[in-house]
Amino acid sequence: MPELPDLLYVLQHLRERLVGRAVTNERVREPVVLRFTVHGNLSLLLGRKLTDAFRRSHFLVFRFEGLDLAVNPMLAGRFRLAESGKPDEASLGFALGFGDVELRYLDDKKMGKAYLITTDDWKAIPGLQTGGIDILSPEFSRERFVSLLKHRRDQVRVFLLDKKALDSLGNAYADEVLFEAGIHPKTFCRSLAHDDGVRLHDAIVKVMKEAVAEVARRSEPIDVKVRDFLKVRRKDTCPRCGAKLRTAGVKGMDSWFCPVCQPATRQGLVDWTRTGK
Ligand SMILES: [Zn+2]
Repeated sequence: MPELPDLLYVLQHLRERLVGRAVTNERVREPVVLRFTVHGNLSLLLGRKLTDAFRRSHFLVFRFEGLDLAVNPMLAGRFRLAESGKPDEASLGFALGFGDVELRYLDDKKMGKAYLITTDDWKAIPGLQTGGIDILSPEFSRERFVSLLKHRRDQVRVFLLDKKALDSLGNAYADEVLFEAGIHPKTFCRSLAHDDGVRLHDAIVKVMKEAVAEVARRSEPIDVKVRDFLKVRRKDTCPRCGAKLRTAGVKGMDSWFCPVCQPATRQGLVDWTRTGK
């Protein structure tokens, strides 16, 4: 699943290449990924200029004159810029041509969705949740985060993934943030002290800013997900203390953590430091 650093990188790249250019052709290979809340099909975009591209929650929005194309890549969706005329990929969902270059949406699982709506008609899109604070914006202050945290009754990792609260963290960066803050993923929000909340806030800002910078620095093609710099997600040993990393199921999601650097604070959780495994 693309996360915030991936989406920002893709956006910046697509803005530089495509904004100001008009759609010259369109091609749909997998109608299942497309939804129209306007009467017509993708050919409605022909001749229209792309005026902007931006992020709204976990959607990438392509703004054309009078119409928005909002894409939620879900698990496996990705974008690629290809020379017009190059053979289609097997996973191609649809393509929009802009003269000599094509924007292609690829999706091996066909779970992603692209909605063609009239400008700003967000209510037409199911699951386009808003209201979460943009974690890279100045509004994401320590005070605001700690006050959000105080009102939660769930586990901290569940809270971090709640897009109505925070815009946004996914599975990979939730693990990295909790590792940075030294907090066990199953800790209940209400058991975190004020200082823990501040530390967690600062960890979110640090981890995400560093990730945005690293993804940009690597300058890979936009369909490549750069994740090899992560410290704990899908790794074997803790880069800080050398302990074997563990996984825990948190509300159906696998979470990676270090049992030494992120000790359990709740009774009933397995204390890996005592099992000798
Ligand atoms: Zn450790």
